[in-house]
Amino acid sequence: MRKYFAILLLAFACGLVKGQTVNNTINNDKKNKVMKFELPKLPYATDALAPVIGKQTVELHYGKHLQAYITNLNNLIQGTKFENADLETIVKESDGPIFNNAGQTLNHNIYFLSFSPKGGGEPIGKLGDAITAQFGSFEDFKKEFVAAGVAQFGSGWVWLSKDAEGKLYITKEANAGNPITKGYTPLLGFDVWEHAYYLDYQNRRADHLNELWKIIDWTAVSARY
Ligand code: MN
Repeated sequence: MRKYFAILLLAFACGLVKGQTVNNTINNDKKNKVMKFELPKLPYATDALAPVIGKQTVELHYGKHLQAYITNLNNLIQGTKFENADLETIVKESDGPIFNNAGQTLNHNIYFLSFSPKGGGEPIGKLGDAITAQFGSFEDFKKEFVAAGVAQFGSGWVWLSKDAEGKLYITKEANAGNPITKGYTPLLGFDVWEHAYYLDYQNRRADHLNELWKIIDWTAVSARY
């Protein structure tokens, strides 16, 4: 009888341990759900943008830098009011390390999905018309955009964005900045952090920015307008 009781006790203890394991699994699943931001899939091979952006730059910039921003963001938002928020809301409402990593996640998501090995040329349709109307010509727009990118002192971005009425803006932003925080919709961003061009162009930022036009996927960019 005492033996039977001991076996019962043992079975009960095992049940408790098992129950705890189940709970841990549920908690892990919950954590995994919070880890929600992921690398966007590139619509081109890592060597497809060369020589404008070399394979090693894409591998490091996309595979290491962007991945690190995403991993940091997923870790930082756990247990905060942002853990179930969408990326744009986080960028608009956060500051400090969460803003830096959310901004860079959004910026690079837009950046890497603005290229195509078959890109280049000029935007047509509504965006092309708006660029010509506001900047005089596509060539004048490119000059102004590159000049803003070159003028950004230190790390940052140059952006083309639009307001609610469709008016276009060229703005330079330091570090993780995105025109979404000014109420604009980002259309195209050139990354002027040195990690974006140093392997291929060293200190020649202007050369890099001028080369980028050859791989711009205007269909993707125009779809944001
Ligand atoms: Mn970058």
